[in-house]
Amino acid sequence: MKHFVTADEIRQLAASGERELMLREHTVLTDAAVDAVRLHGIRLVEGSTYSTGEPPPQVVPAPAGAGGLPAPALAGLVRERSSTGVTPSPQVRRAEGSGTVPVTGPPDSGRLLTRLLIGGEWVEAAGGATVPTVDPATNRTIADVSAAQAEDVDKAVRAARAAFPAWRDLDPEKRARLMLRLAELIESERDYLAQVESHDVGKPIREAALVDLPACWDPWRFFAGAVRTVAGRVLALPRTSLDYVRREPTGVVGMIIPWNFPLHIACRKGSAALAAGNTVILKAPELAPLTSLELGRLALEAGIPPGVFNVVPGLGEVAGAALVEHPDVNKIAFTGSTTTGRAVMRGGAGTIKRVSLELGGKSPSVVFADADLDRAVIGSVFGIYLAQGEVCSAGSRVLVERPVHDEFVARFAERARRIRVGLPHRWETQLGALINRRQCERVYEYVDIGTSEGATVVTGGTRPDDPALAEGNFIQPTVFAGVRNDMRIAQEEIFGPVVVIIPFDGEEEAIRLANDVRYGLAAGIWTADGARAHRVAHALDAGSIWVNHYGVYPSEAPFGGYKESGTGHDLGLESLDEYTEVKNVHVNIGTETFDWYA
Ligand code: NAD
Repeated sequence: MKHFVTADEIRQLAASGERELMLREHTVLTDAAVDAVRLHGIRLVEGSTYSTGEPPPQVVPAPAGAGGLPAPALAGLVRERSSTGVTPSPQVRRAEGSGTVPVTGPPDSGRLLTRLLIGGEWVEAAGGATVPTVDPATNRTIADVSAAQAEDVDKAVRAARAAFPAWRDLDPEKRARLMLRLAELIESERDYLAQVESHDVGKPIREAALVDLPACWDPWRFFAGAVRTVAGRVLALPRTSLDYVRREPTGVVGMIIPWNFPLHIACRKGSAALAAGNTVILKAPELAPLTSLELGRLALEAGIPPGVFNVVPGLGEVAGAALVEHPDVNKIAFTGSTTTGRAVMRGGAGTIKRVSLELGGKSPSVVFADADLDRAVIGSVFGIYLAQGEVCSAGSRVLVERPVHDEFVARFAERARRIRVGLPHRWETQLGALINRRQCERVYEYVDIGTSEGATVVTGGTRPDDPALAEGNFIQPTVFAGVRNDMRIAQEEIFGPVVVIIPFDGEEEAIRLANDVRYGLAAGIWTADGARAHRVAHALDAGSIWVNHYGVYPSEAPFGGYKESGTGHDLGLESLDEYTEVKNVHVNIGTETFDWYA
């Protein structure tokens, strides 16, 4: 006799606070129940089960080590799905032997959103302007996406301004609930969103699903909690005064983001901005705008009022510049290159904009001779090759203490050679395609520059042989040794899967070399000496320091740069400061009148 579990039963289970469902023999989940399981984050506990649809729900182990990514880095980098009983969507096929939750294939192109989201309406750009978004693996157009013009940006600003008072004044508990609901929706659509992100950005789908997506829903949960912690303080002035400091939302926030982690960056900025009571216009990156639009859809579905979260894809020089210069935008939260960051700072000067800038990097990973070399190699490989090296905080400069330098280079290169370069939508792929032809050519140019500067290519620097990759923007993971810190390949952000390895002698030289660069975003330290780890961490000019791992971005931790890597923070409670104004209120509660002219 089969026992059918319905969606209603799952909802009741969730409402009762239960997080697990024990599956017995002959338990059958209806398709709606399977969806409800995912939505409410219910864990399916081992037992024999099958659903009415194909394929059956899998009981998947928690992704410890997530199929080959280094566990220490991943553990801090991502949050586990709240449900481990995940059933793939119909588009998702199971990859043999992966042992995790596989998602493969491109997204359903008929579902893609391509218009602007302004005031809750999906609209064409003025004059019907569009910009194609292109698949980095084939250089073929995925879709023509509306490209916002200055007048569209102006409409979006007016919609955000109109929505601001009600959102600002909404009971924080209600605001938090809407944000939690959005987190649930992002999580429940993880597979589809990973497909879209992977297709549009060229990153391996396995990364999109296991690294990017958890880092998309988690900030909404973190900042939903933080909504109710936004507070001021009362000052210790004479007792005839009541003086208090309020934190108030800044108003209308323009968010301008890059193409490398578009959904994650939109989520980490958007969640903090909305938590603080602001309304938002998100300028999606022209090279990968699709998931920004999906986020706009999900925000509406979550019940976030129209106009609170608007999305305008378009060219930086047009839509981005219009947002930066708009007199009714109070704040620009920008992530992108240092060059564009300068233009944004200048553009905002006319209206004295609050501007926060998350910019580029050339981050060192410093390996001391006493380090666990295996861990240091594994972590440093992850630090550079994640997302094809198109990561602002990539550990692109590895400094290695001389006694272990040669062995480190050999082991690092060996691992780099084993990385599977392939089509992004295949689950087994570990390194995908660079965003476009121009970026790919730029990376190859740096390979030439490094060679002409006298550095040695230990491995990579060439196209993969696989004919299936012939049309796309691919390059083998590349390792340079024999590098000096003053070479261009050691000083300039390459933004591709290219690492430079530089020897050093002793702690003092390590610190000097690590800091001898115009950037200061992040740094890794590999050592068994605890005191040294802290000493060096204090001496490095960088906003994020990772000791004995690399590339960890918990929502709780502020992320921002020193020097030319920017100003301000994403994530962490610190980022709420970026989205609030400080107001001081002084009240005379004494009985006497202060009359200076008496
Ligand atoms: P980019 O600077 O070319 O573009 C970033 C965004 O700015 C895009 O949306 C673009 O349309 C817009 N833009 C371009 N010109 C503009 C202008 N004049 N006015 C307003 N907006 C404009 O950067 P990218 O190529 O998209 O991304 C790669 C860069 O981003 C790298 O340098 C990388 O290090 C950096 N990045 C930094 C972080 C961080 O948190 N520090 C994170 C990811 C990427």
